[in-house]
Amino acid sequence: MNFSPPKGTDDIFPPASRAWRRALMIWESLAERYGYDLVIGPVFESTEIFARGVGESTEVVQKQMYTFEDKGGRSLTLRPEGTASVVRAYLGSGVQGEVKLAYSGPMFRYERPQAGRRRQFYQTGVEYLATAAPDADAEVIEIGYRFLEEVGFDEVEVALNSIGDGECRPAYLAVLRAYLNDKRGTLCDDSVRTLETNPLRVLDCKVCAPHLTDAPNAVDFLCDACRLHFDAVQVRLGNTGIPFRLEPRLVRGLDYYTRTAFEYIATGFDAAQNAVGGGGRYDGLAETLGGSAVPGVGLAMGIDRILLAAGEDGSDIVPLDLFVVVASPERRETAARFVSDLRRAGVRVDMAPQQRSVKSQFRAADRRKAAGVAIIGDEWDQGRVIVRNLATSTQTEISVEEAAEWAKSNR
Ligand code: AMP
Repeated sequence: MNFSPPKGTDDIFPPASRAWRRALMIWESLAERYGYDLVIGPVFESTEIFARGVGESTEVVQKQMYTFEDKGGRSLTLRPEGTASVVRAYLGSGVQGEVKLAYSGPMFRYERPQAGRRRQFYQTGVEYLATAAPDADAEVIEIGYRFLEEVGFDEVEVALNSIGDGECRPAYLAVLRAYLNDKRGTLCDDSVRTLETNPLRVLDCKVCAPHLTDAPNAVDFLCDACRLHFDAVQVRLGNTGIPFRLEPRLVRGLDYYTRTAFEYIATGFDAAQNAVGGGGRYDGLAETLGGSAVPGVGLAMGIDRILLAAGEDGSDIVPLDLFVVVASPERRETAARFVSDLRRAGVRVDMAPQQRSVKSQFRAADRRKAAGVAIIGDEWDQGRVIVRNLATSTQTEISVEEAAEWAKSNR
């Protein structure tokens, strides 16, 4: 029996998982502060949700989906991203009007695995639905930036672009197509195939893009409405102190984007996978899925890549407030009850799973980086317990009722 996880997937095991837990807690707190309610959806969807939503000609749909038929003959796909599912859920919910939703969970893409490019990876994201206002774009961009800040990045750049909408994009695409046709001989087979149907994809092709530096840019073809929108996003970002860099080549790999497209680049990290998150506006997605016109904007942050770039190995153990040392076997039930009560009172506390020598229990307290130790001995019969602060080695006797406060005060 081989105990490795499947190719391109990882066991996020302690100590690495500690950094994950911390990042996910930061994310939850941030999403709540910005007013994004949680949405939890299935990890698989009807294949057509992604085929239509993400786009038939994208690399994700063409090559990377985990698609299977279930026992009822339905074609299902493990979600390669979150937005199409969230928009499908919104349309199905019957909810009307603006909604701010946050999600997180594993996504699946059949990629060539490498560091920061996995077949199962974890995204956290938000979707601000049913608003076309540029303020929403700026808010979403800000959340991702603040998340990276709180996780501990100090070198992050927001790359920002506008790729226009149904009004101005056709004219741009015609010019781009003509340009690409001239370059046809230098393009890879995939790009030649998508050139007619979806020329924007060619700009996103890892092989061809470096040779297309003089390609026309969408931002130079924006209609007045798209230009105003783009300007307003930039003004708001400036006001809220989010540093950004205009990146006219940024097109992103999914078809549903309109107008704003952005990416977070961890500039201090020189690996190939330094795009740690990204997103954009997708005003046509709901209609593409067969629903009413619901504009929206969202982002997805890649947790695997963020922690890789942050160099987080999770080796910082979450310290205990208290380790309970049991002096003799007949005190174990009392001690277990004490630990249970302290946990309910919000104390991070633990005890050994079976009776060991007092010395060995003290060693365990050290290993767990406990700030203090409480010794359950004969004093218990008087409602008292001996506590020791392990940093200062000071020892006192306190009443059992004072123990929770004492433990928390050592944090
Ligand atoms: P996307 O859904 O392609 O816009 O990607 C958004 C973010 O998800 C990226 O910036 C990455 O951080 C992360 N991501 C996308 N694909 C992968 C992958 N295969 N492995 C790890 N992280 C990924």
